[in-house]
Amino acid sequence: TTAEPVLRVRNLATGYGDLRVVWDVSFDVYPGQLTVLLGRNGAGKTTTLRAVSGLNKVTGGTVTLSGEDVTKAAPHQRVRRGMAYVQEGKRVFHSLTVEQNLVMGGYTRRMSRSALVREAGWIYELFPVLGQKRGLPAGSMSGGQQQMLAIGQALMANPSLLLLDEPSGGLAPVIVNEVMARVAELKETGLAIVLVEQAVEASVRVADHVVVLDMGRLVLSSPAAELTDLDRLRNAYFGRV
Ligand code: ATP
Repeated sequence: TTAEPVLRVRNLATGYGDLRVVWDVSFDVYPGQLTVLLGRNGAGKTTTLRAVSGLNKVTGGTVTLSGEDVTKAAPHQRVRRGMAYVQEGKRVFHSLTVEQNLVMGGYTRRMSRSALVREAGWIYELFPVLGQKRGLPAGSMSGGQQQMLAIGQALMANPSLLLLDEPSGGLAPVIVNEVMARVAELKETGLAIVLVEQAVEASVRVADHVVVLDMGRLVLSSPAAELTDLDRLRNAYFGRV
């Protein structure tokens, strides 16, 4: 593709305080494409997303968002420039309705409440169950439906880049496939997506690019289409590449 990447991560190093957790990680994400970050527990996937979002300090390398260097930008500045981050285990407000939760997601936009309610329409098209339940408390929905609401809430900010940390966490396998199918549909809107997942096969199926981290280092970076042989992926997981 010749388009400019929405996200460019170059030689990223990050951690917690003096503790270095991620070294020399590089990847790009183009409009309408999905990159999945895989790796064992503790490999550094969440830490990488936190550095991209600005929640963790970048100690080496650069993060570029739509051509702009945001390596040192605060999280809210990245949000304003089109980055949305759905953290692992993100909770929605149980006592608020589905619609109220979505409207809250649009708070960074200078739009009236009624305009935001209209804006929620395309979220209902993407996730019909949210439309059906728009007037009900979010807490009355299933875990998978609440996960879709958390994603919908992030989309209300109208991002160009969506960072999703383990949306399948705690969900039954059949629901995982449903969530992945909806995430795949999002690519058609031109959104660039970074997905952190434990559900390897389900996420590789919807990915354009696959990155595997091990002990904080990139051990595999490949177009998903070239990973027809999942053995290579498994080898990368176990540090044999
Ligand atoms: P998981 O799927 O288990 O979340 P992960 O690949 O996302 O794994 P990270 O959560 O990024 O891995 O963790 C990478 C390393 O950073 C681990 O060794 C972990 O112990 C460490 N770590 C995570 N959070 C903190 C923190 N707040 N302070 C210090 N170290 C941390």
